[in-house]
Amino acid sequence: MRIDLHTHSSVSDGTDSPAELLSTAAAAGLDVVALTDHDTTAGWGPAAEARPAGLTVVPGMELSCRWFPDDQPPISVHLLGYLFDPLHAAFVAERARLREERLSRGERIVVALAADGHPVAWEAILERSAGGVVGRPHIARALVEAGVVSSVDDAFATLLHHRSPYYVAKADTDVREGIGLVRAAGGVPVFAHGMARSRGRVVGDGAIAAMVDAGLLGLEVDHPDHTAEERDHLRNLAAVHGLLTTGSSDYHGTNKRTPIGACTTDPGQYEALIAAATGSTLLSD
Ligand code: AMP
Ligand code: FE
Ligand code: FE
Ligand code: ZN
Repeated sequence: MRIDLHTHSSVSDGTDSPAELLSTAAAAGLDVVALTDHDTTAGWGPAAEARPAGLTVVPGMELSCRWFPDDQPPISVHLLGYLFDPLHAAFVAERARLREERLSRGERIVVALAADGHPVAWEAILERSAGGVVGRPHIARALVEAGVVSSVDDAFATLLHHRSPYYVAKADTDVREGIGLVRAAGGVPVFAHGMARSRGRVVGDGAIAAMVDAGLLGLEVDHPDHTAEERDHLRNLAAVHGLLTTGSSDYHGTNKRTPIGACTTDPGQYEALIAAATGSTLLSD
């Protein structure tokens, strides 16, 4: 069994439509793929319609969150949620708030870039992100097409990284509240790429312990942005806290170079994950 539990479609900041993503997954020889778009479940319906026979799809999401240290500014963290009830009212409302936050923050970044003479327009970005889940990759693509940078990676390296003067933070969900919402909706919360330093500051082990107290059930260990040492550290931490461990590609189509299935989840861990969920069901034969 080959299982990839973290992918993005064009419903958020990937480039494959949900249907294309599932064909890509099947063609890559995956047996199970989770669709985990940022802050939306809008891809679940199209994925259910387009699912190729033999492929199991885990409905999921990646929630934009923050951890609040005592002595530093908040740290951006991502929380994967699987098999939750997509209609749980408080969770629906929080996702809608996050998407609004993405819109206002995206517009601020684009307006600042345009004010400095970079030829990008907010209206064009909105068209590009038809579902309303705007992220920096949409801005990156617009910068590539305008000839300002040579690639999405180049856009992140120069203008869009978290220390850039154009960077604007989002008012993301307190991760403990996010964990509570996923659990309240019957889902399984897993801390995404928790030690990926290339993305910015990362939280310490104490924060992870606090997330466990809040109901966290798993850690994403095998992720393209984690070194071997970081994976070992997270695997040990999972053993200490009795957490599930997952592996995944974080596939974003052509917005990133990582192929689908680049990292995978152990079948036993996957079985434990689906056994812990009560909010919704797998899409399968
Ligand atoms: P945002 O959610 O708007 O803060 O943007 C974060 C998203 O940008 C992540 O989910 C990734 O998809 C993408 N991203 C972050 N760093 C890079 C990078 N260096 N190259 C390409 N995409 C990136
Ligand atoms: Fe993304
Ligand atoms: Fe992420
Ligand atoms: Zn992701």
